Amino acid sequence: MIELEEASQRILDVIHPTGEEIVALSEIDGRVLAEDLTAPINLPTFDNSAMDGYAVRAAEALTGARLQCIGEAPAGTVFKGEVGKGQCVRIFTGSPMPAGANAVVMQEDTHVEGETIEITEGVKPLEHVRLRGEDVREGDLIGHAGELLNPSHLALLGSCGIGTVRVHQRPIIGLLATGNELREAGATLEPGEIFESNRQTIARLVETSGAQSRIYPLVPDTLDDTVTALKTAFTECDAVVTSGGVSVGEHDYVKAAFEELGGTLDFWKVRMKPGKPFVCGRLEKRLLFGLPGNPVSAFITFLLLVRPAILKMSGAANTKLPTHPVLLTAPLVNHGNRRNFMRVFVDAKGRAHSAGMQASHALGSLARANGLVDVPPESTLEEKSTVSVLRWVL
Ligand code: AMP
Ligand code: MG
Repeated sequence: MIELEEASQRILDVIHPTGEEIVALSEIDGRVLAEDLTAPINLPTFDNSAMDGYAVRAAEALTGARLQCIGEAPAGTVFKGEVGKGQCVRIFTGSPMPAGANAVVMQEDTHVEGETIEITEGVKPLEHVRLRGEDVREGDLIGHAGELLNPSHLALLGSCGIGTVRVHQRPIIGLLATGNELREAGATLEPGEIFESNRQTIARLVETSGAQSRIYPLVPDTLDDTVTALKTAFTECDAVVTSGGVSVGEHDYVKAAFEELGGTLDFWKVRMKPGKPFVCGRLEKRLLFGLPGNPVSAFITFLLLVRPAILKMSGAANTKLPTHPVLLTAPLVNHGNRRNFMRVFVDAKGRAHSAGMQASHALGSLARANGLVDVPPESTLEEKSTVSVLRWVL
């Protein structure tokens, strides 16, 4: 049995990022940037109005002043003339600032009488003006190699006119579930059978780690079936994640089948709860991650041991789950001799509540939880203490 940190490091040490490819901007969500990106243009690209209103010379636009409106500058056009003494120009959000003007009076702060605009609330220079380059300057770094991209990056890169981006290829992660008792959703369960849930769950976690998942049919508990299933998955995928069949029972065939295929087991069993019977092995350059079958154990061992590996494979620089301090609203007690990653629900005020029953098969509490607290062996984390929580949903 090895410690979690050692297990994690041993896995990360043998992982190399996938190759690269160029994709359209619309495809970048969830992908990992393979290049540093610099801004090709300034944002804003030109000085423009932040409001619908009147472009003015601030020194003259005092409360009570009356200005003559000499024209309008709709967004997408450039006002031809210049704002002179005593004048203003009707302007709209995003319109380029007309020459001569240095501030915008909001429409709400004016009183209009034909072409005469009375200012009911004066402005200072640059008020309601968005300056060229104040957000992003041409040449600024706007993306780092290794950054996992999300839709907010799309907004920035899109606004810079970037149409394609070099990203890492998404490794293909094969997902197998072993167990004679497992049935697909929609089946009629015979006595002793259960619905399988690990493949779908892990698939979603894989997809948010820069990779793509490939779900394989259920694998019965026989050596032959397990060998055949692993063989197919290892031929088609960059890494394979199995669930179940890695304990000490006579019907646990994952390790034996993997060795029969020529794989080498690196380690088995990690000193943690839930999820002790986690196995890691290598078949040529491809890794096997054998998760325990219990859905909670599968979920948590995936998050702590496999997610970082898949992120690294996908080229991500940061492979850690986000953490932050939380205040415990009740003690978290671990009577066991392994550290226990206990499920908690973190509320909007940053207080952590136990998510409920902590057993490895308890799925209600997993669904309620949005964080894990690492409780050391034979110890209690007291009520009102501040502890660190690992998050996977925020
Ligand atoms: P195992 O690790 O194969 O000994 O399975 C441990 C427990 O998890 C047993 O109660 C199994 O029925 C259950 N289990 C195993 N695989 C799955 C799965 N894919 N989905 C739901 N439950 C599972
Ligand atoms: Mg089983």
